Amino acid sequence: MHTAGIFAVAAKKGARAPQDGCVGPIMSKEYAEIIVDVAAFPVDREFHYHVPPSLQPSLKVGHRVLVPFGRRRVVGYVVGFSSPPEDVREIRDILRILDEEPLITPTLLELAHWMSDYYGCLLVEAISCMLPPGARAKGPAPVRTLKAVRLTGRGCLGGLGPKQELALELIRRAPGQTLTVVSLEEQGIGRTTVQSLVKRDILQETRVVITRRPDDQALERSSQEITLTPEQERALAAITDALGQNQVFVLHGVTGSGKTEVYLRAIASALRAGLGALVLVPEIALTAQIMGEFQARFGDEVALLHSNLSLGERHDEWLRLRRGEARVVVGARSAVFAPVQDLGLIVIDEEHEPSYKQDDRHPRYHARTVAMKRAELENAVVVLGSATPGIESYYRSKEGSSKLLILSKRVENLPLPKVEIVDMRDELKRGNRTVFSRRLQRELARCLGRGEQAILFLNRRGYTTFIFCRECGEVMRCADCSVSMTYHQPEGELRCHYCGNTRRPPQTCPACGSQAIRHFGAGTQRVVEALQELFPRARAARLDADVTSRKGAHAEILRSFAARKLDVLVGTQMVAKGFDFPGVTLVGVVAADTILNLPDYRSSERTFQLLVQAAGRAGRGPDGGVVVIQTYNPQHYAVLKAAEHDYEAFYRRELSFRESLHYPPFCRLVRLLFQGESEAEVQRTAHLWSRLLGPKVRPRGWEMFGPAPAPLSRLRDRYRWHLWLKVPPEGPLPIKELLGDCAAQGSLTEVNLSIDVEPSFML
Ligand code: ADP
Ligand code: ZN
Ligand code: ZN
Repeated sequence: MHTAGIFAVAAKKGARAPQDGCVGPIMSKEYAEIIVDVAAFPVDREFHYHVPPSLQPSLKVGHRVLVPFGRRRVVGYVVGFSSPPEDVREIRDILRILDEEPLITPTLLELAHWMSDYYGCLLVEAISCMLPPGARAKGPAPVRTLKAVRLTGRGCLGGLGPKQELALELIRRAPGQTLTVVSLEEQGIGRTTVQSLVKRDILQETRVVITRRPDDQALERSSQEITLTPEQERALAAITDALGQNQVFVLHGVTGSGKTEVYLRAIASALRAGLGALVLVPEIALTAQIMGEFQARFGDEVALLHSNLSLGERHDEWLRLRRGEARVVVGARSAVFAPVQDLGLIVIDEEHEPSYKQDDRHPRYHARTVAMKRAELENAVVVLGSATPGIESYYRSKEGSSKLLILSKRVENLPLPKVEIVDMRDELKRGNRTVFSRRLQRELARCLGRGEQAILFLNRRGYTTFIFCRECGEVMRCADCSVSMTYHQPEGELRCHYCGNTRRPPQTCPACGSQAIRHFGAGTQRVVEALQELFPRARAARLDADVTSRKGAHAEILRSFAARKLDVLVGTQMVAKGFDFPGVTLVGVVAADTILNLPDYRSSERTFQLLVQAAGRAGRGPDGGVVVIQTYNPQHYAVLKAAEHDYEAFYRRELSFRESLHYPPFCRLVRLLFQGESEAEVQRTAHLWSRLLGPKVRPRGWEMFGPAPAPLSRLRDRYRWHLWLKVPPEGPLPIKELLGDCAAQGSLTEVNLSIDVEPSFML
């Protein structure tokens, strides 16, 4: 869908326009270079427009403007000023400037240019990341409100129809005798009625920009003065000393070591130095708890940007940053583009999280990579915090391009929890076919008996993981995707989590006809039921994507758990992130293996991270904690080293594996994914591209792999093949230039090509 656009650049080599095309002391603003935002015309090139003299004094690079385009009027962005080439016949006028101040700052525009080159996306796609939420769909519309001007009582105005009477009545009753046009419309009062009243000077229409602030949904927290540990002090001093320079730190702190406190104080230092700060938190960890902490500390200086806010709220938060009213932003991935003024510090919490990579749409950027580039442009400090830093980040800190800060101990000398590994093959041999090992049952009994809390963790949602045939091993898969389907209990149906297909579970195996169809593994719902069979009085709740898709449900469940109205929380990845519940003394990992078996070079790293994060939820209070990991792979180093809380040992083992197979951090991976309805076409196109690219990449010393069917060889009714490039870890990555050259011959009509630089997943 986007591919045509990416490659249209081939027609115009070296597409990047100079920031200002004029030499000399005064930049002429007679002609502007404009990038237009037209979905049907995804071409990466600037068009020249004439700037009417009246607009010349105010027009700046980064301004959003209205321009004629064909027979339409479209939104465009000013990316520079220069005279049009000689051969351009018609130069049209810019019609209007859409915002008083440019929405895009010069630095962010430069960042957009870099993204476009590095990720091979359209410049306008990169720019759209930097716009206020909702601005691309429609401009920031002020709210139209109606106020009564003449209102002296029913009937005395004379000659009004019933609709008009009703409108007046509603306005009379409204607070301040003012209502928005929209709310009148919602009550059945149409535009004509309103206009007739405005014409007769009974109502006055005004446009106001109403600033919406998200509710303060902070959990109550004790804000006692905290004395930093010596390790926290050292880390904070290093960060504070570096403010004003471009420096990257990896803050490797075990779970419960007080990383957040270091962030908060570093931000306070930045603010004192007159610098702004940007804090990224994974979307699912962006809870009331963490937001409350920032709001409690910085009040109105903090703007929040996350998906639970309405578009309007996010838009207003964005504006507060742009105007400099808020100087700190806390948000999920896309907040990396927030217009923080005088940016001095970027914090990325849980920096190893795959959700920092946008992989479902253009631009396929990684917020960490973008943050590092932005910090370079703005001379800012970056702090990458994690208990389990990504292998790439840790490697860079070892190589010296970033600095390593270590918090090796939990605060108040709390011990790390003791971790037990249970071999589930043994349980089966002994006839235990339930989801809980005997060990985990004992620990649950102990924990609940003492009135303490437990978290049970697994990485699948739904009732069971999948359904398979015990005779022949056939797994029930989605007919359109090649993934196993998940059984959902209340509906009694199988569901595909990629495309949403559903079907009834079969009575007999479609492959061999056997009736030995059986559920395998356990989903959150099944675990809750099994728990309730064993401990009928335990108060348990699920926390997974099925449950929390309802707005507010997530926060509600966490609030009950924090208030100890729940004993056991059963959940997916979501429960493993960043929560701090001192009442939790037991964490059970129901099945450690699901990720370990994925065909992805990062599967060990992901498993290690999840196990450490899950274990880190235990024993944050005075009562200590126990962790039970159930697995069919008890000897795997990811499981063993997680149980020993030994990141260094895991890192060394993992790094030698990466080195031997030449995977990141020893290279950068680029994936070209070909998708289409005809398998033959997809395969043919993938091979064609391999032939086209070969002579271009080999002389650069890049390696190419494939083409081959992707592990998910079919998804949403489309066939998928991929081709991989291994690019040296350092140096330029001119994706756009390279691929653009092939586009003309690449036959991309029936097959869609998407490019993913440093993808998070290989499926
Ligand atoms: P991490 O993010 O490293 O897992 P947190 O930042 O969640 O750890 O800190 C765990 C708890 O310890 C929090 O409740 C925090 O307020 C508290 N804390 C942080 N630093 C200190 C300190 N120096 N002394 C006492 N408590 C602290
Ligand atoms: Zn499917
Ligand atoms: Zn079978």
